[in-house]
This record gives sequence, C-alpha cells and structure tokens, in this order.
Amino acid sequence: MSPRTATSHRRISILGATGSIGVNTLDVIRHMGGREAFDVVAVTGSANATLLARQAREAGAQIAVTADERLYGQLKDLLAGSGIEAAAGREALIEAAAIPADITMAAIVGMAGLEPTLAAVANGGTIALANKECLVSAGGLFIDAVHGAGGTLLPVDSEHNAIFQVLEADRKQAVERVILTASGGPFRTFSREQMESVTVETARAHPNWSMGLKISIDSASMFNKALEMIEARYLFDLAPGQIEVIVHPQSIVHSMVGYRDGSILAQLGPSDMRTAIGYCLGWPFRPDLPVERLDFAKLARLEFEAPDQARFPALRLARQALEAGGLSGAVLNGAKETALDAFIAGRAGFLEMAEMVERVMDQMADLPEARTLDDVIAADGEARKRAAAMIP
Ligand code: NDP
Repeated sequence: MSPRTATSHRRISILGATGSIGVNTLDVIRHMGGREAFDVVAVTGSANATLLARQAREAGAQIAVTADERLYGQLKDLLAGSGIEAAAGREALIEAAAIPADITMAAIVGMAGLEPTLAAVANGGTIALANKECLVSAGGLFIDAVHGAGGTLLPVDSEHNAIFQVLEADRKQAVERVILTASGGPFRTFSREQMESVTVETARAHPNWSMGLKISIDSASMFNKALEMIEARYLFDLAPGQIEVIVHPQSIVHSMVGYRDGSILAQLGPSDMRTAIGYCLGWPFRPDLPVERLDFAKLARLEFEAPDQARFPALRLARQALEAGGLSGAVLNGAKETALDAFIAGRAGFLEMAEMVERVMDQMADLPEARTLDDVIAADGEARKRAAAMIP
C-alpha cells in the first residue's frame, strides 16, 4: 500500500450524517476539497429523510440509508433520478456501514451506533469515533475488534481529540494522568433545589457548544463527562486513577495530559467541532479550516474549578463503573439512555436521571466481564428494562 499523502483521494462513509457531527463533517469535507478529495460512499440518518437526501445529492454519495423503515418511500422519491441507491431499516444501515471505506465517521447517537460502527470496524479502515457509547458499552471488545481488523481509531470527541493530539507529540510512557475539561453546562452554578425543576429547554441550552439534543442534556447533567471518563479509559489504555475531570467554563482548553516530570500539555481552540473532525479526516495532516482564531487578549481569563459531585452524581457513578470495569459501562449507559428519554418525554425529573442510573447499577453490580457482543447487548437491555420499570 502506498503511504498516504496530504492530497490522497479517499472513500468516506458518514454514519449519522443528518446529526450535528454529521453536518459538521460534510462541511469539513467541503473545506478539504469536497469531491476532489473524498468519494462519499454511504450517508445514513434516521428521522430526517429530507436532509439525508439533500446531503446524498450534494456529496454524490453511493448510497443513502435511513434507519427508519417507514421512510423508505420518501427517501427513494427524494433521490429519484440521482443514481443514488436508497435503503431503509436497521439491517440495511449495518450493511451500508460494512461497505469498504478508507474512513468512517461514526456519529450515530447512543447505543444504536454500536453495531453499525462495528460493521465498519470489520473493514480495517480508519474509524473517526464520535459515538462514545461504543467504548462506554463495549469497551475492550470494541478496541479488540479495531486491532483485530488492523484498523485505526481516531477520537472525534473534542476532549479525547485534544489528548490524542498531545500524545502524538510526546511519549505515552511518561504520562501520569489525563485531565478532561468540562464546561459545567448551563447549571454549573445552580443549587440542587434549582436543578430539581429544570426543563428540557433549559437543559439543552449549552453555554458554549452547539450539539445534538441528547448530548446537550447529558452535558447539563455531566453524564456526558461520565461517558467521556470511561471512553478515555479504553481509548488511551489508562487506569481509573489516571483520569481526572476539571470544570473549565470557557471550553477553550479542550483537555490536558500530565507527565511524570510535572509538565502539563494541553490542546486549545475555539468551541467548534470542525477542528477535531478535521484532525481525524486529515490525519496525519492538519487541514486548513475556517474556524475562529483564538484571541488571547480578548479572552482575558481561563477559569478552572473542581466539579461538585453532590450536584453532579454522574461523575461519581462513572468512577464506580471505571473501578468495576467490564459490563458496568454498558449498564450505566443503558440505564442513562432510558432515563434521558424519560426526562425528554417529561416522565422523569432532571435529578431523577442519576438516581435511576445509580439504582440500576446497584442492582446489576456483580456482572462478569463481557466476552461477546451479545453479553453487551444483554446487559444494556436488562439495564434499560430495570430503568424503565422505575418510570411512573
Ligand atoms: P444528533 O442527535 O445531532 O445526531 C444523531 C444522528 O444519529 C442523526 O444522524 C440521527 O438521524 C441518527 N440517529 C438517531 N437515532 C438513530 C437510530 N436509532 N439508528 C440510526 N441512526 C440514528 O447527535 P450528535 O451529532 O450531537 O452526536 C452524535 C454522536 O457524537 C453522539 O454519540 C455524541 O455523544 C457524539 N458527540 C457529539 C458531539 C457534538 O458536538 N455534537 C461532540 C462529541 C461527541 P436523524 O437526525 O435523521 O434522526
């Protein structure tokens, strides 16, 4: 195989193209040369067939797939005359993910992304991983699948992308700890009493980042940071005690790595996911991107504070899952997704989400290590069932 150059032409699939990360990915592709640089193989979505069809036409995709079978007719009509194949349903989505591509952007939200991403992993290409749930739920199995297929895993999550950028520049053996930064979300300064009555609308309004609904609410509860702690453990092969979280309200320092000599190396940038996406799409070359440039004179101050685990119990639960290892990540995530859906539907309060997750984790504390994907799916399903039983 010839070595990749900065201008190599590559085949790319975008799983979750219609979401926040997917839309940003297509924008980055345009800035990196569009069809001159990339052949778009598959684009996938779920509820938004209109946007999916438009994206497929604009990018000249080979196939567009909606996870929602009921939308097949609509998608097919929207793609009529384009020569782009339309498909629908979960199996079709997994099949599309399995079509060989040099790089796959894995940006489906939630556990629904695990099987399609694993189908892409089996090709042995590069996986740009936005879907943190793959690592939270399937952890070591997912990493083994990537290694087994001879693939490359690049983290899209801004914190992990920051750590990845730092680790590329220095020796991993000398790493003492990683420090994930957290904005603290919209309720950083709220009391527990105030948090009791917050709504979906206030919870989704992230102070710095523009993201999908679920990750925005997860940021407000700090369950997003909880998932990221587990994600970091598997991505960088860290011991639980090497993973720290610090609240940094400005979201300029995207994360840091602490070394044995006392040095701290960090990656900084504006709150724009296109930098992390571009780093993965261009890797090992940095693309030119039109993101805002930091002006330190205007920034004036960068603040840091310890997270409050009493108001944000998600961090304590993540620590518990990290210590327990194995299937506890799948349990935490399955219960969390069910609790989050209940909060979005108005059937659970904001603080009740963590209470439900904690109770499910306590009930399912003694699970063995996952040996197969079926073990992960079973633990996830059982956690969802138990969490659902707690919803009035
Ligand atoms: P969005 O909710 O904006 O988008 C989710 C995507 O997944 C959409 O394309 C959606 O399709 C699709 N989808 C939803 N349900 C299903 C399903 N059951 N089967 C197949 N596809 C489905 O999410 P984000 O883009 O914000 O996040 C995507 C992933 O990236 C998440 O795991 C998130 O944690 C992670 N991430 C996101 C960041 C961000 O800045 N947004 C930052 C770091 C990580 P449709 O819209 O058509 O229904």
